[in-house]
Amino acid sequence: MSKDKILYEGKAKTIIKGPRKHTLIQRFKDDATAYNKKKHKIFKGKGILNNKISEHLMNHLKAERIPMSFIERTNDRDQLIKECEIIPIEFVVRNIITGSIAKKLALKEGIKLKKPLLEYYYKEDALDDPMISRDHVEAFGWATKAELAKIDKLSLKINTSLGKLFKKKGLTLVDFKLEFGRLKSDKTKVVLADEISPDSCRLWDIKTNKKLDKDVFRKSLGSLLTAYQEVASRLGIGH
Ligand code: UDP
Repeated sequence: MSKDKILYEGKAKTIIKGPRKHTLIQRFKDDATAYNKKKHKIFKGKGILNNKISEHLMNHLKAERIPMSFIERTNDRDQLIKECEIIPIEFVVRNIITGSIAKKLALKEGIKLKKPLLEYYYKEDALDDPMISRDHVEAFGWATKAELAKIDKLSLKINTSLGKLFKKKGLTLVDFKLEFGRLKSDKTKVVLADEISPDSCRLWDIKTNKKLDKDVFRKSLGSLLTAYQEVASRLGIGH
């Protein structure tokens, strides 16, 4: 562990120098944070579950030709990934109204949207990740019009693909957050980055609407590890 060169220490992951040029190691931690780090707790084993869940979902999307930074999971905690320059936007896709949008616009929770809603948030903790429009993204040069068009298309494709997968496992994909980046080896290539896990998705049991994601922690609804373990086992992921 001591030879690992830490390049970036995030809230739920650490980024370490990779074994080859243009690669990195993404290490999943047990920390859970919410409300811009105002709430923080460690759940022993959460990182292992998220690493395996994200690997499973990324491999599913890879088979559907979604370009991504994910290469492979190398152990319980780590993934080998392609190095990329992260676009400083959180791309949120919503199928059902809940969370920040319900609060901000005083909308009734649980309403199913007629079509998926795409939103952009500027990644800046000091500003509490403000919601922005696509014009802001272009105006401030965070991404080009062409990159945004590509990302929108990929986000909707990912939503359809994961929505179907989760449905088969008795789960509703309520909403989720994606991150994209430009490959260091070829900056013209925009790829899906980061992770897809119950930390970044809302997943409800299809029959009972029981929450099986980070809302369990945000809202203190019970055991986070039990919820994440339930998602892993429904996806067929063993220990
Ligand atoms: N999300 C995330 N990281 C963030 C903000 C949101 O992964 O910094 C995810 C969140 O888990 C949910 C979706 O994006 O699946 C939409 O979140 P929302 O805007 O409702 O914000 P929240 O209620 O999480 O503050």
